[in-house]
Amino acid sequence: MPKSLSIQFLGTSSAQPSLTRNTSSLAVIIDGTSWLFDVGEATQHQLNKFKNIKWGKIDKIFITHMHGDHVFGLPPLLCTLTNNLSEDPARPPIEIYGPSGLRNFVRSSLSLTRSHLNRNCVVHELLFPDDPIDSGKLFESSEQSGKNIHMTIDKNNNKSWKVIDEGDYIVSAAPIEHSIPSLGYVIDEKPISGNIDIELVKPILMRNKDALELKNPMELLKKLQQNQSLNMPDGTIIEPPQQRPGRKIIILGDTFDPSGIIHLAMDADVLVHEATNSLTSDDSEGTTYEQVEKLSIEKGHSTSKMAGKFAAKINAQKLLLNHFSHRYRSDNENIMNEIKQAAIESFGNGNDQVICTYDGMTIQIPLYFTV
Ligand SMILES: [Zn+2]
Ligand SMILES: [Zn+2]
Repeated sequence: MPKSLSIQFLGTSSAQPSLTRNTSSLAVIIDGTSWLFDVGEATQHQLNKFKNIKWGKIDKIFITHMHGDHVFGLPPLLCTLTNNLSEDPARPPIEIYGPSGLRNFVRSSLSLTRSHLNRNCVVHELLFPDDPIDSGKLFESSEQSGKNIHMTIDKNNNKSWKVIDEGDYIVSAAPIEHSIPSLGYVIDEKPISGNIDIELVKPILMRNKDALELKNPMELLKKLQQNQSLNMPDGTIIEPPQQRPGRKIIILGDTFDPSGIIHLAMDADVLVHEATNSLTSDDSEGTTYEQVEKLSIEKGHSTSKMAGKFAAKINAQKLLLNHFSHRYRSDNENIMNEIKQAAIESFGNGNDQVICTYDGMTIQIPLYFTV
């Protein structure tokens, strides 16, 4: 059975909150368990407001970069996630992944505010070659030693980090260009096994029952589901059902050039890309798109048109835009539509394939968007 997979946007503003948008955070929800990507200031308020995510089911947090609008909400969230829940020593720690300095940020914030965690946490750092190896003291007894995950560089000079390989999912990351070190994450779902044709398989298993010396030969179905073929004593080979490719989600941190992640991002089902700026009818007369793009790049950011171009480059199915300038209120339909149209034009995919996200918006990710 494929898992249910969705993304909820908790904050879609860049730099500072506006009246209609909070700072960056989103949750990838896999069968009810949530992984947060970035935790801007007041993410807790958003979790309270939208009520979709179970606090006790947040077990991983990924940080794209160390700018405050992406991390200022992390220490208080950790306090709530650990202090308001009953202590269970057997419970695995909350795992936090992010760039160099994240461990120190978490420790300093917690210790300077005399905070105390009742559940363990662990911070794993994704290190660039020049990053220092953290040698600081663990925070009280609640911090466990995290991994230092070193960047690997292949023969084509592609850079990446293997972040996790757990259950049905592999998470990796790659560096993207911003004003400070920034990461893009890739969530790859492992292939999903197809349906076994029981009417075809059962008679073969049953006629081999005695030779197999199994009370219930149907227990071999598990092996088929695990993609193993079965060699029957009578010479029949039962092949496993054809596997379907899993889903691929790309979540980028702030960027003016994400090309460093292309080698991991091709044919993504979903691309989450920032769109801090755009040329809109709100801009003063005579402003050109080129001027807007130049200014955006100078500040380390992208326009929605740039996001659309990148989505086309990696052959993405769907483009979800976030991290909008606070000028772009989510309730200003005309302006948001102009931003979207610019992305559609450069993406080349249809109207349904580009979404300007807003706080609280949830997008389901089915196995195939197009079927
Ligand atoms: Zn930002
Ligand atoms: Zn930033």
